Amino acid sequence: MSRLEDFKNQIHKCSRCGLCQSACPLYQISGNDCTVSRGQFIMLDGVLKNELKLNKNINKYLDLCLKCGACSKFCPSGIDAVDIIIAAKSEYFKSSLKERLISVFQKYILFGIVPKLIGLFVPKTKSEVYETKVLYFGGCGSRFKSDKAIVKVLNRLNIEVINPDFDCCGISLFTRGDLEGFQKAIDSYVNILKKYNITNVVTNCASCEKSLKDYIKWTTNEEHKKFLSTVVVRNVFSYIKESGLGFELEKSVRVTYHKPCNINNFEDIEWVLKNTKNLEYIEMENFDKCCGLNAVTKIRERKIVSALLDEKSNNIKKTLARYVLTSCLGCQVALSFNLTRKYKVMDLLEFLARN
Ligand code: SF4
Ligand code: SF4
Repeated sequence: MSRLEDFKNQIHKCSRCGLCQSACPLYQISGNDCTVSRGQFIMLDGVLKNELKLNKNINKYLDLCLKCGACSKFCPSGIDAVDIIIAAKSEYFKSSLKERLISVFQKYILFGIVPKLIGLFVPKTKSEVYETKVLYFGGCGSRFKSDKAIVKVLNRLNIEVINPDFDCCGISLFTRGDLEGFQKAIDSYVNILKKYNITNVVTNCASCEKSLKDYIKWTTNEEHKKFLSTVVVRNVFSYIKESGLGFELEKSVRVTYHKPCNINNFEDIEWVLKNTKNLEYIEMENFDKCCGLNAVTKIRERKIVSALLDEKSNNIKKTLARYVLTSCLGCQVALSFNLTRKYKVMDLLEFLARN
């Protein structure tokens, strides 16, 4: 399902109860129904009935949505708002030259220059050879920092890490509604998996993990769909918790952790945070509230964006921790945006490996 029309029944399942309002970080600031799933579904219903045009005014709200999925967790009708918003964005994308030009730029940077530069300057960490093998999906940026740590940890668990040149997972194309570009990311991923004949994939980035797991839902290639049903994607922390592998820091450090919206195995991460010697983990207020990355570029909505970022920064400051750990490259960018250099925003695994 990728056309807005395909989601008609889902949209009609909305009872307009308004429970999503209490969960939506944007609505809590704006108080505007157009920024939450209920209001968006009312607009999209109008589009489907040809009463409204899917124009830049509607796209503004689709775009502002953080794609955090918080509303869906509370929705009694079980509606996946993000999928519907992406399907609507994809219709707008096709009709908008500006959106398509931005996407060309993203593809040039994310799929062209970034992987080439990383390949040139970052030598891959060599893995020990074991009978059990996994493919490490480092994506466009996280490989830059965490490949050493992943190989070290998984080798300790007698698992060999194969580290091919994957492209970006395509999440930024997906959230823009460029489903054709997203399909190319899927094609590239499937081809690499087939080449190595390995269907166990490990990643360290929450957004990469979500994309890889969502590929099966969005691919338009039936053969790929069948193949993807045989693929198992796991976060490195699930291996760590399963094995009981303990970490110990050289000296005592206080940290806090921001939970990315796309993480679905926080219990594994929490286990690591609570079972690492010399690590004092302080849970920040609303640690699982969206970092607001998707809104950072919406300069016209400065008031909303600042309120989102300020709330997160204030919650971080209250913990008195200097290290802010997370497990998503995008969250790292958003968290760093509003914090002074006194705070160090880091990937959790990279932090453990360094300390
Ligand atoms: S919680 Fe679900 S059913 Fe209720 S208004 Fe929001 S989207 Fe509609
Ligand atoms: S995905 Fe997040 S930002 Fe978007 S409507 Fe749902 S709760 Fe609000």
